[in-house]
Amino acid sequence: MTSDKQHQQKKTDFIRDLVRADQSSKRHSGRVQTRFPPEPNGYLHLGHAKSICLNFGIAEEFGGICNLRFDDTNPVTESVEFVHSIQRDIEWILGKQISTRPLFASDYFEQMFEWAVLLIEKGKAYVDDQDAETISELRGNFTEVGVDSPFRKRTPEENLKLFQMMRDGDFPEGSCVLRAKIAMDHENMNMRDPVLYRIRNESHFRTENDWVIYPTYDWAHGQSDAIENVTHSLCTLEFESHRLLYDWFIEQLEIPLDKRPYQSEFARLNFTHTVLSKRLLKRLVEDCVVEGWDDPRMPTISGLRRRGYPSEAIRNFCDHIGIAKTNSTHEIELLESFVRTELNQSAQRRMAVIDPVKLTITNWPTGKLEYRTAINNPEDKSAGTREIPFSGNLLIEREDFMEDPLPKFFRLSPGREVRLRYGYFVTCTGFINDENGDLVEILCTYDPETSGGKAPDGRKVKATIHWVEEANSQRGSVATYARLFSSEKPDAFDDPFDDLNKESREVFETATFEPSISDVENGEVVQFERLGYFCRDESKEILFHQTVGLRDEWANIQKRNKSK
Ligand code: ATP
Ligand code: MG
Repeated sequence: MTSDKQHQQKKTDFIRDLVRADQSSKRHSGRVQTRFPPEPNGYLHLGHAKSICLNFGIAEEFGGICNLRFDDTNPVTESVEFVHSIQRDIEWILGKQISTRPLFASDYFEQMFEWAVLLIEKGKAYVDDQDAETISELRGNFTEVGVDSPFRKRTPEENLKLFQMMRDGDFPEGSCVLRAKIAMDHENMNMRDPVLYRIRNESHFRTENDWVIYPTYDWAHGQSDAIENVTHSLCTLEFESHRLLYDWFIEQLEIPLDKRPYQSEFARLNFTHTVLSKRLLKRLVEDCVVEGWDDPRMPTISGLRRRGYPSEAIRNFCDHIGIAKTNSTHEIELLESFVRTELNQSAQRRMAVIDPVKLTITNWPTGKLEYRTAINNPEDKSAGTREIPFSGNLLIEREDFMEDPLPKFFRLSPGREVRLRYGYFVTCTGFINDENGDLVEILCTYDPETSGGKAPDGRKVKATIHWVEEANSQRGSVATYARLFSSEKPDAFDDPFDDLNKESREVFETATFEPSISDVENGEVVQFERLGYFCRDESKEILFHQTVGLRDEWANIQKRNKSK
């Protein structure tokens, strides 16, 4: 067996090839340093997981380090709550603690300010009194060049004075900005005198009221990388056209060659039936479409954790899809198949009936209770067995009975014999409906000779159903989930919220479980026989969230694609 490290060394993709080449040409004296730079303005999602696996993975594979750096340059939307959730989620995804302490772009505000002063002194930045709308209008577009601001000719002395006044709070919000002085006719729009600082009279969750000017993302990002000595600055494709600007800043600031970060771009992760934009995820929370960032229907790390996704499954998925340079969308079923593979190995089996109806065995000896032996995990012998009570008073799934069975329905119906999992063969002899015609009880007889799950005369049954013994059952709730968005591409809607599936959650409040359910810990995932994988919630009452079903829908999709 190869060790993890050997396995990882074999990984190849265009970024790893580049890192290898840089290491052998000693570009940064062979050093490799990456970073994961989230903005603390929301919870992390699956897309972030890809970036986390990439950045931390590369650092580990090449003997380098990866810092968690909060890109906290926007005082309005950021908070400590998000900082804490992000750190927790990263460590969960990685399956270990982050070895370096978290860093914050806000710790570099003073250095960024000094560098902005340096640009002004070099005649490469100016204070512009135009309002945001005018600035945006005069930037031009892909076919039209931009127009110089009337304030572009200000002298460095005047700009230095004005920039200091901006910092000192002498101007109202929106009255002026600091811009880089590059070229308003540049073919790359990002080079048309981008804004570096805005006035914002807002308190920041870390620097509090120290600043009333805040750097823009474009100004803060590359400079933060340079301050930290990041060697490989990995980001998503939409920043490709910003690279020229970031390199221009670094050049102007005369950062020594071996200290310059080099940016490479990779494709964002997208899934069918899923939105991964923080803006939309925030709206789902704020509009109470879901019950919070950790609602099990959310593609957030905290939502998936609550739903019972093992972090190994997410890591394995990220390994499997690798890194590419073109954006594409992955089927959500592929991720689910990784989850299923992982849980099939690790999850204990239990019996639960989530929509129960009584099944009475009329020829069962009155008052008799016996124990049946059930296998905890057929994939893992060491998980052992358990004893489950069995009697003549059982509960089975309402949908496992049909008064008039449809073709291909092989489960219980009048006159039909089926196997009770770990129990006996039973034959339906009758049923009782209430005055509304709703089924309340199914009557059966059992064959005592079928205790081993087989009939001595060799007769076969077409279905095995699960059950719970009524008197010893535990009660609780089970939530099952469908896709939060109905169509494969919710992003294709003008408003993806028009595509929301109104029936994405169903809660069964009268679910019943075999007694050993009480051994299942909060956060643990079990397989409910025939139903799927379910994760026990942290709440005091018994509540389970459906993690994923048993059927491999990914296999079906592959078959469908092959036959196309
Ligand atoms: P959003 O667009 O959802 O607001 P973001 O990119 O602004 O996300 P950040 O907190 O800035 O969110 O993201 C931190 C890092 O995670 C960035 O370096 C970004 O490249 C990466 N990232 C974000 N979304 C994805 C994604 N869908 N796939 C891969 N990486 C992503
Ligand atoms: Mg971002």
